[in-house]
Amino acid sequence: MQTVTGLATARGFAVGPVFVYRSIGEAPVPEYVIEPGREGEELGRLRRAMLETRRDIEGLISALRNRTEHAETRIFECHIMLLEDAMLVEETERYITENHLNAEAAVRRTTNRARAQFARMNDHYFRERVRDLDDVERRLLKALTGFSGNPHLELKKPSIVVADDLTPSETVQLPRDFVLGFATNGGSATSHVALLARAMGIPAVTGLGSITSLVTAGETILLDGTSGTVTLGPTPAAILEFSDLVERQKEIAEEVTIRAPAGTLKDGGEVVLYANVHPGVPVDDVRGQGARGIGLYRSEYLWLNCEREPTEDEQYAAYREAAEFAATLGPDAPITIRMLDIGGDKLVRGISATEANPFLGNRSIRYLLANRNVFRTQLRAILRASVHGRVSIMYPMISCVEELREAARTLAEVRRELDEKGIAYDHDIRTGAMIEVPAAAINAEALAREVSFFSIGTNDLVQYTMAADRGNEAVAHLYQPTNPAVLKLMRLTIDAAKRNGIRVEVCGESASDPIVGVLWAAMGVDALSMSATYIPLMAKLLSRLTRAELDDYLRTVETMDVSATGGEILDVCRDWMLTHIPDLDNIVI
Ligand code: PEP
Ligand code: MG
Repeated sequence: MQTVTGLATARGFAVGPVFVYRSIGEAPVPEYVIEPGREGEELGRLRRAMLETRRDIEGLISALRNRTEHAETRIFECHIMLLEDAMLVEETERYITENHLNAEAAVRRTTNRARAQFARMNDHYFRERVRDLDDVERRLLKALTGFSGNPHLELKKPSIVVADDLTPSETVQLPRDFVLGFATNGGSATSHVALLARAMGIPAVTGLGSITSLVTAGETILLDGTSGTVTLGPTPAAILEFSDLVERQKEIAEEVTIRAPAGTLKDGGEVVLYANVHPGVPVDDVRGQGARGIGLYRSEYLWLNCEREPTEDEQYAAYREAAEFAATLGPDAPITIRMLDIGGDKLVRGISATEANPFLGNRSIRYLLANRNVFRTQLRAILRASVHGRVSIMYPMISCVEELREAARTLAEVRRELDEKGIAYDHDIRTGAMIEVPAAAINAEALAREVSFFSIGTNDLVQYTMAADRGNEAVAHLYQPTNPAVLKLMRLTIDAAKRNGIRVEVCGESASDPIVGVLWAAMGVDALSMSATYIPLMAKLLSRLTRAELDDYLRTVETMDVSATGGEILDVCRDWMLTHIPDLDNIVI
């Protein structure tokens, strides 16, 4: 058995066969075990791909013949010989017929073995052939994925998806019922694949480094999203033990039923708990988990799901459905629709521009203000849906007051347009600003005068404050919600909201962290919004604490020496929590 440790990203356990995605250029290449009887079909795909690859290389040779030396065309003639080498082809076919691998995985196995053999040779000529092999393999895999169409459709049985990294749109397109867990080389606990895994209630481990090169399609692995480990080559006894954990996990989820409304403190005070939802990810669990509303509706997934701009009517239908669903969560249950937060790693093909630094680029509110038609269309759709629930509008990535004023002007224009046409909408609709850029937190006092609520997006606020990419495992140690700099910005934002009489919520994933989420509650936020699967646990923790205890928690943290590090603050927080909730680790399984 070999255990690889990464970042604990979405809680839970999974045991099952591996389905691998390897990235070849931009395209994810799937590797899996084929269903019995499909070997002939798979051999056919391989032959067609070989033919296409041969034509490709021949095209290249004739283009080169017209303008270069004979020596250069020789290289590509060798590529054809490698492609059609009888021993390599036979081996690949055997992987399909005897090991039941799909053609991509079979090609990969053959080339890996040949690469290792070439690399071991003393002869410089043969060592150099590794590069040629890489080239031929890349062309062949490209041809193969072209034949299989949408690689996501190949995921046909429950599996653990192992990938370099997955983009938000790749993740949402996966057939959810067949994904037992995610294990990725890259990413971190707040990367978008992580947030989607949490929203879907699927365990995930990210930041595993090179997990894709350690696994083979079809082999059984164990994934522990709670401690952030993946076990390869498990013994039958370990598989059995893990299967028990998977069952136990289901029981625990059922046991954590809450009687009081989610977010009620022991003394009756409250910090309301809401759900974060992604359009396209089913919301069946949200009510069962006790969400008292939707604190963050990530509207950009409407764009990511269809990889184009949805029409006003398509948007209206989605917002209306979400608003009607939110209204079933309780009397006056709200829904906060976050406007198109495109950019960063949420890129939509054909819409997002290529930028040198997309996280600091033309994203979110900046994109909306620069593309006023997109902004107006979305506002119209949200306003029309606002008669079907308690809808609020939230502007993402606000960095300065001007953006809020400009957004308000646009909203006023759209409202006038709807008034003139006699189209109904909620005239008391509230607008809010996401606080996720340090400049917004520092200047929160001014921003608070422009809106009726703040929602602190700690996923981005921590990233921008620490200058540590939220998706990069190499800097995950700097991504510290309890860093004193982050705590100061939280304090500034919450105080500004209170002084100006507006609500303040946290909708970053740290809201669900048993230690940090409770700290935000102690700091005085009105609501915490998180992936629904985490609500029962946070509700349970809050139901065991009084406001006076939360005040004591806050005092303990805020009276620490100014030189305390993020790690030291986290340790003090954990100690405080363990003193007050000694069975914390059992609750948090
Ligand atoms: C955040 O930044 O905390 C947030 C909630 O927005 P997203 O994760 O979608 O960027
Ligand atoms: Mg954000």
